[in-house]
Amino acid sequence: MEFDRDEIRIRGLRIFAHHGVLEEETRLGQTFIINATLFSSTRKSGCGDNLEDTVSYADVCLFLTDYLQKNTWKLLEAAAEHTCEALLLAFPLLRQVELEIQKPSAPIPLPFDTVSVCIRRSWHKAFVALGSNLGDRQAYLDGAVEALRANPLIRVRQVSTYLITKPYGGVEQRDFLNAAMEIETLYEPEELLDALQAVEQTAKRERLVHWGPRTLDLDILFYDDLVLDRDRLVIPHPDLQNRDFVLKPMTQLAPRLVHPIFNKTMQDLLKALPDG
Ligand code: ADP
Ligand code: MG
Repeated sequence: MEFDRDEIRIRGLRIFAHHGVLEEETRLGQTFIINATLFSSTRKSGCGDNLEDTVSYADVCLFLTDYLQKNTWKLLEAAAEHTCEALLLAFPLLRQVELEIQKPSAPIPLPFDTVSVCIRRSWHKAFVALGSNLGDRQAYLDGAVEALRANPLIRVRQVSTYLITKPYGGVEQRDFLNAAMEIETLYEPEELLDALQAVEQTAKRERLVHWGPRTLDLDILFYDDLVLDRDRLVIPHPDLQNRDFVLKPMTQLAPRLVHPIFNKTMQDLLKALPDG
């Protein structure tokens, strides 16, 4: 991951396009100036000297020009947001991008050099727990994996084996089928939760009893090394260190991943459980 901090820089790319709030801006168009920093490991292309091992700045310039000319947004914010997402989807070696869109002829009746919006967007690594103990449990887990694979903003990297586990929390019910998956995503944490809850909804999950039976439960375990405590979302998942049905599949996927609060690896957290 360290090498992903290498930078390929594009400065001063001029694009004639039609973004703006005013009608005359979208009608007449104006010149936008783009600065982009592409974060990607250049180690392989650096050692091997092959173009196919890197993000081609020429291709990125052509892509930016085409994309910003065939779309129109009122706001630079929207132009930047959509363009970053399109770049990260179109160039597989690109891990992160910083994009500045300058508008030196913006309609401001005052002397100024330029105005711009500059944003940084990237792929994030996350781990998701899957569980089901109602109906065709395997089909629910398979369906969740398929639904997430079909989402362009999510790349499924690894799925653990499915584990049969005893129910948790003292409610009398059927055994669970549990798994974990590693993904990369362009979603922000709460957007990822929304996407997971939408998949849960399609599995017609009913939440009748807390910790009770459910067709499908999808929880965010980790998101990069983020520590987050909001009403709707706590990351890392606050109970994962107590759950063998999470730590076992996590130990398959990433045994040496370090929990950002406890500073312990997945395999050490699993060993620390009473019957681990
Ligand atoms: P549980 O997963 O604990 O069995 P639910 O799936 O019903 O229970 O989740 C209850 C609420 O937990 C969700 O509505 C969600 O807002 C919140 N929540 C907090 N942190 C997380 C997380 N890391 N992953 C998923 N949901 C979370
Ligand atoms: Mg849940």
